[in-house]
Amino acid sequence: MLRGLEEGPDLRADRRVLQRIAQLGESMRDSDAIEDSPIPEAPQICEPIIPKAAGETADEPPKQEKRAQAEAFAALRTQVLACTKCPHLVAFRHSVVFGVGNPTAELMFVGEAPGADEDMRGEPFVGRAGELLTKIIETMGFQRSDVYIANVLKCRPDMPPGTPGNRQPTPAEMQTCLPYLQQQIELIQPKVMVALGGTAMRGLFGKVEPMKDMRGRWHSFGSIPVMATFHPSYLLRNQALSEKRKVWEDMLQVLERLGHPINERQKNYFLTR
Ligand code: URA
Repeated sequence: MLRGLEEGPDLRADRRVLQRIAQLGESMRDSDAIEDSPIPEAPQICEPIIPKAAGETADEPPKQEKRAQAEAFAALRTQVLACTKCPHLVAFRHSVVFGVGNPTAELMFVGEAPGADEDMRGEPFVGRAGELLTKIIETMGFQRSDVYIANVLKCRPDMPPGTPGNRQPTPAEMQTCLPYLQQQIELIQPKVMVALGGTAMRGLFGKVEPMKDMRGRWHSFGSIPVMATFHPSYLLRNQALSEKRKVWEDMLQVLERLGHPINERQKNYFLTR
């Protein structure tokens, strides 16, 4: 039986989430219509879906809000898994790779697109680059399940029949898919995000500057600080200690921004003597 929505303060969060889902539906329809327009310079993030009441800390949302957020996240997942916006990717994919991890994470990593391994498993960053990303996350003091990991593009970019390997997503593919990532971010409300590589930066911000100029610096996605760093597959191709140290210094900045203590060992990783 449907509940009346007019009574009880604890039902207000439900109503807000329903309104929010309706708004998100509107923005998705809008984005369908602008498929050929350029990637926006500064994406707008809507207000958090569930405002905090007086006396509640940002770290401890009440149970009711947590449940409403979980329901909205599950609804978004269902919507994304059924997406058919890019027919060429739908025809090629084994799975839609929505994202993995803690949907209330304080830290979120954003990559570019699933590769063959991710497409088969339905999970981002599970191939060689993913193993390296997991090591980085654990060296920072997290478990993979503590953070959230997603890509700008949720489907593996298609390859000509019989061609091995992966390709980068196109700006148009990322632009089409970006509203899904925006909704994930709005629901997760991470304190900090990490953009992995130049393609992810282009997908998020439309930026085409060289990575050497963007990495190690803070960028803003709406109100959320984003640290740009090299993609783990760059570190697999370039094994120089100096490049590992650069990524590690970026992660130290992330830990500092999150207010996490950094021990001496962590400070000194990959330092050349
Ligand atoms: N590279 C990415 O950008 N994302 C993945 O999920 C895997 C590899």
